[in-house]
Amino acid sequence: MTEEKQFNLILLGPPGAGKGTQAGLLVNAYDLLHVSTGDMLRSAIKEGSATGLKAQEYMSKGELVPDSIVTQLVVDRMGKPDASGGVILDGFPRTKPQAEALDNSLKENGRTIDVVLYVNASLDVIIQRLTGRRVCPECGMNYHITNIPPRKEGVCDTCNVDLFQREDDEPETVKNRLVVYEKSTKDLIGYYREKGLLEEVNGDISAEELFEEVDSLFRGEGLVK
Ligand code: ADP
Ligand code: ZN
Repeated sequence: MTEEKQFNLILLGPPGAGKGTQAGLLVNAYDLLHVSTGDMLRSAIKEGSATGLKAQEYMSKGELVPDSIVTQLVVDRMGKPDASGGVILDGFPRTKPQAEALDNSLKENGRTIDVVLYVNASLDVIIQRLTGRRVCPECGMNYHITNIPPRKEGVCDTCNVDLFQREDDEPETVKNRLVVYEKSTKDLIGYYREKGLLEEVNGDISAEELFEEVDSLFRGEGLVK
């Protein structure tokens, strides 16, 4: 039996750069598993699990959830059968200890990271995107009051229920998330650049345009077929 080559990708960049949206487009195009720590933590909160209760204390303030909690979530998720074709890590790693824990886990499992896509964006674009984001409580779809408005204001196109604003998308918390990014996550750019894995793109353009650019970049490097 011939094994398909796995493709493992990390999305790095400030909150609001559009990592989640790109992840959605990329998982469809390449048939990968989307591993979003933010989504996993939000569903743990919804379930009311012990992990969720703990995580909520940090998330509501825009602080990082402790490394041990998120690392465990990711390692467990990557061990499931549906992760065997490759993953897109979205929102993880966010600290040096997370990056090192990931390296160790990959090594133990004979896996490697193929590319780290650094999606950068300018501050005014980030703030406009995050504070205008609205989410469907049923299907999780992200809208934006002006960039991606639902057909009927404040209501999900698919589920017909009221959209809400994430607590951490309120302006004060957005500011703190950006401070936390600068302080804890930005160092990872250098970490992956040194490993020769970093590819930088500009997230200010539309999601569709950015996807086209990323797709041709990956094709050009022979990372995807
Ligand atoms: P964004 O990338 O827009 O900030 P996410 O959904 O990725 O949004 O993350 C939301 C929150 O979840 C973060 O502010 C943080 O509290 C928590 N979180 C997500 N991923 C991690 C991580 N890898 N390490 C620590 N906390 C995390
Ligand atoms: Zn919906």
